Amino acid sequence: MPDNAAPPVTDPRPAPDWDAFADWGRRIADWGADYHRNLRDRPVRAPLTPGRLRAALPPSPPEAGETMAAIWADLDRLVMPGLTHWQHPRFFAYFPANAAPPSILAEFVTAILAPQCMLWQTSPAATELETHVLDWLRQALGLPDAFHGVIQDSASSATLAAVLVMRERALDWAGNREGLSGQGRLRLYTSAEAHSSVERAAWIAGIGAENLVRLPTAGPLRSADPAALRAAIASDRAAGSIPAGLIACTGATGTGASDDLRALLAAARAEGLYTHVDAAWAGSAMICPDFRSLWDGVEAADSVVMNPHKWLGAQFDCAAHFLRAPEDLVRSLAIRPEYLKTHGADGVIDYSEWSVPLGRRFRALKLWFLLRFYGLGYLRAMIRDHVRWAQALAERLRANPRFEIVTEPVLSLFTFRLAGEDDDAQIAFLSRINNDGHIYLTQTRVDGRIALRFQVGAFAVTAEDVQLAGDVLDALAGGPVMTGSGD
Ligand SMILES: *Cc1c(COP(=O)(O)O)cnc(C)c1O
Repeated sequence: MPDNAAPPVTDPRPAPDWDAFADWGRRIADWGADYHRNLRDRPVRAPLTPGRLRAALPPSPPEAGETMAAIWADLDRLVMPGLTHWQHPRFFAYFPANAAPPSILAEFVTAILAPQCMLWQTSPAATELETHVLDWLRQALGLPDAFHGVIQDSASSATLAAVLVMRERALDWAGNREGLSGQGRLRLYTSAEAHSSVERAAWIAGIGAENLVRLPTAGPLRSADPAALRAAIASDRAAGSIPAGLIACTGATGTGASDDLRALLAAARAEGLYTHVDAAWAGSAMICPDFRSLWDGVEAADSVVMNPHKWLGAQFDCAAHFLRAPEDLVRSLAIRPEYLKTHGADGVIDYSEWSVPLGRRFRALKLWFLLRFYGLGYLRAMIRDHVRWAQALAERLRANPRFEIVTEPVLSLFTFRLAGEDDDAQIAFLSRINNDGHIYLTQTRVDGRIALRFQVGAFAVTAEDVQLAGDVLDALAGGPVMTGSGD
């Protein structure tokens, strides 16, 4: 038999075994509960040995099917030891990517139904639930009812969508039709602290990184300077360029830098620019009225994104994108080939026209389960706890002469470093912290120098976990710091 012969198949091929599916579903639910119950005992970060998993896998796909038991055994044996545990209560790195229990259950339901939610007609209840739950979220965030929400897969996609609107508006809607060659030179403005997704949006939209003006920041919250924005717009206009939009941020990734939205949005709008606010992480905290001063003035924005999939507990992917005039977005992104026309169903929302991909998952379900199960009261209390615990830890580190606080807490994020040590020493210290395994932190650069980031936001974190983090930091900083240890 030649090597490429088709494998023998029984006739008829067996149908999917839904009894076995139900058994495995129960087993996986039990396994998942155990995993979470015992998560505190695992090291947070995966051991870093590049290539280890691939070396253990067969080079080619199997020709004959395998049993679920065999696949499952390899998950435990090969995959689990190589994972960083993002749901670990002592995950203090990056930003949280929480998956709260009701959200996991909703995702399980979504995986079973696997509906496509591109048009109202392809999943009417999913579309209407999305509209409704995002209006709940809008109210929870204190945004005016002029805003209409859509769930994007990520904040990066929302920012890209907003930048595409900036481009089309500024070109009088000619970009999609004519392409960009021969058009004027578009200019975008953002903070020097803005997330990398802003620059990528400028690339992908065909505007180019060189036309993304990074405004200098100032003040305790490291806001982009409104005077610098006005000056940049004026000089760009004088040079014949076309100012198209402002991407402001609330709670930027490195240190939580937050723009003075009131001043910046007013300056941008006075010049006719489209405005987008990236509050991917900090947006979740805006369910607490006491924190809303951080984005004071946000109601003037055209577009706002925040990620319930970070701090709020709806698991990835769930980016809530609020728009004052969804028509601008639809005009930039809608395409209507015959097979997508929904005759007789006018007056409904087809959310595929609000986002770059056509296909869409049923992402509203997890937000609905989450908001109903916890209620805003629980979620607000959780976020306030995290903020308080982060601030208490910052005070504790400030009191230890081995440390200096580099940037003050913005909500639950602050940065610090070993006092009087160079960048290499900071990185070596970070390696020791993360190899120790009790906690996981990441670094950033502040004014060119390495600082260690600490954010509290895991759904399961307790005050004791944050205290333990302080104990680990004190203990590991206690002795002399070895540099260049290469670990
Ligand atoms: C996390 C983050 C992003 C990117 O979010 P995705 O949903 O992963 O695309 C963008 N901006 C800020 C400020 C962030 O914190």
